Amino acid sequence: MDFFDFHHHKRNISFGIYNLDLSSTHTDTPYSIGIHPKSININCIEEQFSWMESNITENCIAIGECGLDSFADTDQKIQEEVFLRQIRISNELKKPVIIHCVRKFYELIAFKKYAEQPMIIHGFNKKESIAGDLLKNNFYLSFGKAVLYNLSLQNTLKNAPLDKIFLETDNDDFDISDLYLKVAEIKNISPEDLHQQILENLETIKNG
Ligand SMILES: [Zn+2]
Repeated sequence: MDFFDFHHHKRNISFGIYNLDLSSTHTDTPYSIGIHPKSININCIEEQFSWMESNITENCIAIGECGLDSFADTDQKIQEEVFLRQIRISNELKKPVIIHCVRKFYELIAFKKYAEQPMIIHGFNKKESIAGDLLKNNFYLSFGKAVLYNLSLQNTLKNAPLDKIFLETDNDDFDISDLYLKVAEIKNISPEDLHQQILENLETIKNG
């Protein structure tokens, strides 16, 4: 059975959302497009935005990954401007936003008020209290490989509402079906029902 991979970087996977590499051209399978905080180049930010805007087709499912990263070289203020501009593109095009966030969750929550479309935090692997705050603020959480071995994350997932989650491989090399099987076990449902729910979540975020 083929399972949906919410966020990945592999052009050969067609059942999922492929995150376009900066400056590469769009695919004819579902993809997301955005300027990652670590890819911001202040000397050619306008070119980066025009690359983005000229590569948005009907196969573009979401804007991103974009967001805030406390380890990125780019100044925080600029990261926030670039992020806000992408939130505005998402509002205008009515596409959800896939978020990359490293140690900036409370700053991120402050940006939620600008977004008219759903926001999904990809690769979530932090504490349950952070997950709780994000869920309370209506963020979706996408979980990856860490769920396979991180017990506290498994516990977070156990308490997260099924209609607020996604599953992804991101950059990691493993089979997405292993993650679906693990999460189905944690949630005490069948992998088929879990998959059905994830596909429904996808429809929900696509419809704003
Ligand atoms: Zn990624």
